[in-house]
Amino acid sequence: MSLDQAVRSETSLDRLVAAAEVGANAPLPDDDIPLYAPRRNIYPQSVHGTFRRIKWAVLVVTLGIYYLLPFVRWDRGPNAPDQAVLVDFPARRFYFFSIEIWPQEIYYLTGLLIIAAITLFLMNAVAGRIWCGYLCPQTVWTDLFLAIERFVEGDRREHMLRDRRHWTASTWGRKGVKHFLWLMVAWWTGGAWVLYFADAPTLVKQLATGEAPLIAYVWIGILTFTTYTLAGHMREQVCLYMCPWPRIQAALTDEYALNVTYRYDRGEPRCSVKKAEQLREKGEPAGDCIDCLQCVHVCPTGVDIRGGANLGCIQCGLCIDACDNVMTKLGRPTGLIAYDTDLNIKARLEGKPSVFQLVRMRTILYAAIIAIVGGVMIYVLATRDSEGISVIHDRNPMFVQLSDGAIRNAYTIRIVNKQLKYRNFIISVDGLPSSLVDFVGLPPRADGRQLVDVGPDQTREVRVTVTDYADTPPAPSTSILFKLIDVDTGEVAEMRDHFFGPEQKP
Ligand code: SF4
Ligand code: SF4
Repeated sequence: MSLDQAVRSETSLDRLVAAAEVGANAPLPDDDIPLYAPRRNIYPQSVHGTFRRIKWAVLVVTLGIYYLLPFVRWDRGPNAPDQAVLVDFPARRFYFFSIEIWPQEIYYLTGLLIIAAITLFLMNAVAGRIWCGYLCPQTVWTDLFLAIERFVEGDRREHMLRDRRHWTASTWGRKGVKHFLWLMVAWWTGGAWVLYFADAPTLVKQLATGEAPLIAYVWIGILTFTTYTLAGHMREQVCLYMCPWPRIQAALTDEYALNVTYRYDRGEPRCSVKKAEQLREKGEPAGDCIDCLQCVHVCPTGVDIRGGANLGCIQCGLCIDACDNVMTKLGRPTGLIAYDTDLNIKARLEGKPSVFQLVRMRTILYAAIIAIVGGVMIYVLATRDSEGISVIHDRNPMFVQLSDGAIRNAYTIRIVNKQLKYRNFIISVDGLPSSLVDFVGLPPRADGRQLVDVGPDQTREVRVTVTDYADTPPAPSTSILFKLIDVDTGEVAEMRDHFFGPEQKP
């Protein structure tokens, strides 16, 4: 039999596959159950339909963003990098379009993590594992690797037959091409990752000429390996065994969350088309499911959704497409498998109408938390100061008494200039009526003022002494307020500290 004939001979292969699956699923005596279940090769069949199209669109958009974003430019002026998204480790900055995050503002990351977590909860409350089925990097890259595999080795049947027959030069050649293409995608995935940490066009040139830093090659190697292994070889096993989210989401879900569901109220009792017709003619019940296994064949994790909720189901919706295609060919209504709830199935079995309750206390609460945290972050970002001051009092000595009786304290002050231009600052102190602030080693300007200039997007550390010339000695500890003032704009940043003096004698 030629390969084409064999591929077309669906029944023989179905029997072969069904026999293998029945054999694999047959219950074993307790003593014979292995601790580790060896992996069954899964050959997901291609499918066309609404959810497949959504998945292609998500794949193109997400991978397009990931691969191309490092090359997007964003003009921040002459003193800052022009890469739209950049993690600048040497300068300790994170740039995201017009937003620039400094190390001390890392709390924004906390806000982002809270929003990300609650968004996952919200997605789960609305429609189960949307993240897993459409957006998770493991799903997206696995989808891409499967597309390459089908392109090179053929769709499910052709691929299965090739693997089960004696391997020819053509089989080896196709395997080689597939793995080469997988490695290319994995390599470019690692390459794109490092471009977020340096100027992308420059780093590409350096990588091409072998002049890039060693760490860039190391990270590309690590990510090439992980992408190739996780998306090419481990695939559904990552979802089944490695990822904690299926367990977490199972604990978070409720009875109103929409999940990919086999509507057994409509599908059972399942039987062949012919038998269903005979049963219906006799007035006996016959379900719409014809047991064609199309929903199982397209499943990337090898799940039979007709068995009910399953941790292995990533809710990708491809079985919906497969079953809808079957139903359309049979002239039956689509939606035998659909986003639905067990609650609705039970309601329909009792003759009650289906209830879809997307807006409920849980979804309102999640949406409110996202809106509040997002709103606070936007407000803080929009109103944050473009200058900052931090003060550290000298530990030893805490103070010195000058020959004229004045008390002097010394401080180390760090001045932050978040603007992309040079700025001049003065520092004053509130809380000591007769005090003098002096920058150590900084000569006064022509007008007698001591100004500290700080470069664009930089910090500067200065030593400062504060001397109290009051006739009465200061208290052992006086709270004072340092004020950093931009001499051009009048913008002010403040920081409290203490001024120490000798213990008062009774
Ligand atoms: S694709 Fe539809 S009809 Fe075919 S086995 Fe699955 S549920 Fe039944
Ligand atoms: S059972 Fe259906 S929804 Fe679940 S992973 Fe398989 S194809 Fe996707």
